[in-house]
Amino acid sequence: MMAPRPAPPRVLTVAGSDSGGGAGIQADLKTMLALGTHGMSVVTAVTAQNSLGVHGAWPLPAAAVTAQFRAVVDDIGVQAVKTGMLASAELVETVAGLLRPLDVPVVVDPVGVSKHGDALLAHDALDAVRHRLLPVATVATPNLDEVTQLTGITVTDESGLREAAVAVLAFGPRWALIKGGHLPGDAVDLLTDGTTEHWLRAPRSDNNHTHGTGCTLASAIAAGLAAGRSVPDAVAEAKSYITRAVAAGFALGAGIGPVDHGH
Ligand code: PLP
Repeated sequence: MMAPRPAPPRVLTVAGSDSGGGAGIQADLKTMLALGTHGMSVVTAVTAQNSLGVHGAWPLPAAAVTAQFRAVVDDIGVQAVKTGMLASAELVETVAGLLRPLDVPVVVDPVGVSKHGDALLAHDALDAVRHRLLPVATVATPNLDEVTQLTGITVTDESGLREAAVAVLAFGPRWALIKGGHLPGDAVDLLTDGTTEHWLRAPRSDNNHTHGTGCTLASAIAAGLAAGRSVPDAVAEAKSYITRAVAAGFALGAGIGPVDHGH
């Protein structure tokens, strides 16, 4: 009998479901598969969603989130975790409590609002994100809207990314990846641990089918970390992956289509 092949690196996403398949858990699992890892999921919330927006969102009970997490971690084990939509203060606290004793890299995408302007996190959950979740993060990946929500800082040009990173690092993540994609010009991100700086630059894509970009980038970083890469290497490869995925994004439905994982 042939020996079973060794398992690929195991990556866990703790995030919301996007029924349209473009963002959230669905984007995370596609990214993890595309990058040669075994993806697993703890669903925090179910959304009714399509290319036009989020039409409803239902957070799961904290006990359901804890049970999914324990089932995965206690048997299969994880080599990296990514968090996305956590919906409520209670779920942020619950997930932070589960992650704190876990000795693996954690990528926190502090999801606040969708591209369509739909709230994916209750306003009263921001303090829990700042003081419970960010301290357990190996890498935090806020976009500029999330930087403003979390720190009060508004970034209007590339030179502001450094101040934003310092403010995010003050909450305790080991690394901050500040995503400047909402600025005009090139898509420029700054990765820093407060000592070293890595500027990541990609030409702006003229494709506006970008649903799921944040989820995909954070999952790609987690996949790289699960495979044993350093944070700067995992982020550089993830940036290359998301740049290709956005360039290949396609129209779906009447609104914003998804980035593509099949490129
Ligand atoms: N839906 C879910 C469940 C998500 O987790 C996210 C982003 O994290 C979104 C929607 C928003 O995706 P986008 O802003 O890329 O459209």
